[in-house]
Amino acid sequence: MGTKNGIKLTFAMSLLVVFTVCSTTVVNWYLSVHALKSTLTDNHLENNYRYAQKVLNSTTVLLNDMEHNLSTLADVLGKKELSQSDLDAWRDANSGYYNSLFTTDSQGVVQLMSPQVLPSNPGGVRPGTKIQSDLMKQALKNKQPFISDPYLAQTGNLVVLVSYPIFDQQGNFKGVVDGTIYLESNNSMKRLLEQHEFLDETSVFVVDHSGRIIYHPDSTRINQSAADHPLVQRVIEGRNGSEQIQANGFEYFSGYAYIEPTRWGIITQTPTSVIDKPLNNLTKIIIVQSLPLLLLILLLGWLFANQLTKPINTLARYSEEAILSKKEAYSIHRLEIKSAIYEVRKLCHHIQRHFQLLNNQIQQDGLTGLANRRSFDLEIEKLVRDKVPFSLIMLDIDHFKVVNDQYGHLVGDDVLRFLALIMQDVCREDDLCFRYGGEEFVILLKYKNVDKAQVLAERLRLKVAETPSPTGHPIYISLGISAYEDGDENPEVVIKRADMALYRSKNEGRNRTTIY
Ligand code: GH3
Ligand code: MG
Ligand code: MG
Repeated sequence: MGTKNGIKLTFAMSLLVVFTVCSTTVVNWYLSVHALKSTLTDNHLENNYRYAQKVLNSTTVLLNDMEHNLSTLADVLGKKELSQSDLDAWRDANSGYYNSLFTTDSQGVVQLMSPQVLPSNPGGVRPGTKIQSDLMKQALKNKQPFISDPYLAQTGNLVVLVSYPIFDQQGNFKGVVDGTIYLESNNSMKRLLEQHEFLDETSVFVVDHSGRIIYHPDSTRINQSAADHPLVQRVIEGRNGSEQIQANGFEYFSGYAYIEPTRWGIITQTPTSVIDKPLNNLTKIIIVQSLPLLLLILLLGWLFANQLTKPINTLARYSEEAILSKKEAYSIHRLEIKSAIYEVRKLCHHIQRHFQLLNNQIQQDGLTGLANRRSFDLEIEKLVRDKVPFSLIMLDIDHFKVVNDQYGHLVGDDVLRFLALIMQDVCREDDLCFRYGGEEFVILLKYKNVDKAQVLAERLRLKVAETPSPTGHPIYISLGISAYEDGDENPEVVIKRADMALYRSKNEGRNRTTIY
């Protein structure tokens, strides 16, 4: 493809095509992937935000329902005494709200409890036990409904207490009714947090106002602190939103929402790696779908580049050959270049013209316009080589030095031109006139007949002698004639013979013709 003189145009064009196609594909791929990534990111952030909001709404509704449920129970308890079975029936009817329900008197002594014995703590609190906890003291003192912060119960469970005061019909404080929710156990709260989980890798966790995890799909995380999570601080400050974050060495699309009544924070998160698959799929689709097209474009591009560069290639070869052919004047064949490209057409045209001119210059004598010595040598060599019979007239101006001396070189030049014109005038189309050098000329005749050649030579001599030259006076010429003989091996022998004949003309007094 490359040469020591540089790379070929076809190769450069093909390279350009390959580069253009490849870079366009890469840019397309990048833009598509970027657009999809941006859309997916926005979608996941939006989904997480909505998810957090949905969990917030459902949780708020559930807590309100639970509180309302306890308020109704407290109302009933204010009006009449309930039996154990009544309370059990109540709990069953609202199954799933609470893990346990119990009532106390105004001193905090447990009256009724459902279930009567806690399966997880049979030796613990039971009817008749006085509860001494701070929460109970607070409930008895404030006589207000409340939802407690999650706390670790004796059973080891993380428990949220929902408490409601009981007043009789006269408005006297009778005690409290409390419902416990075990955060790790199966209950409405847990089901609610779980049921929203998306099918993909989205998860949700809930923290209390101190940043402690109170719900997590991985139950071992419950009761651990998540204060170092980048969104926990934000959500327990009461904010809602969505963000792309780094946590535990992973990157997530995350949504967060604040539950006002309990001061809990909900955080939903989807690993950002979920968008890798669609992005990789897109890349695969782009590769699979565009590869055949790409190859086709490359092929067409290559063909086009080839077609485009072919004329320039031909031109380059043409000029290379023309310049290398030192021996003979380059025979300009017609350059058959078909190109639709304006510049290429112009270039072809100019180069061809340029070589034509160059060729003419190489073959012509600049002063007289006759063919030069170089052309003569080529022509006579060819005749001898092809054994074509010919005769040769060699002529020289008599005392030309005197012309130069008397009239100057410029007039001398004019005399040379003048002689050339007469030569062309006297000769026929087939006769070839050359300036041999200085004031010497030759005529090649395509016949061997020296007598016929002599007729021409004499006609020329007489015409020159009769015509006033640029000096104002006639000039004279001496001529020598030779002919190609069978067995002449080279042109020199024929030239030599003509030269000898010319020499003789000079010696015998000039202004005459001698046949060798
Ligand atoms: P002869 O009759 O023996 O041929 O005498 P001559 O003076 O012609 O011969 P010679 O060879 O001594 O002189 C040739 C002269 O031609 C010498 C040179 O200055 C002159 N000459 C050669 N080429 C040119 C040319 O191109 N222009 C002019 N003006 N003079 C030329
Ligand atoms: Mg001479
Ligand atoms: Mg002379």
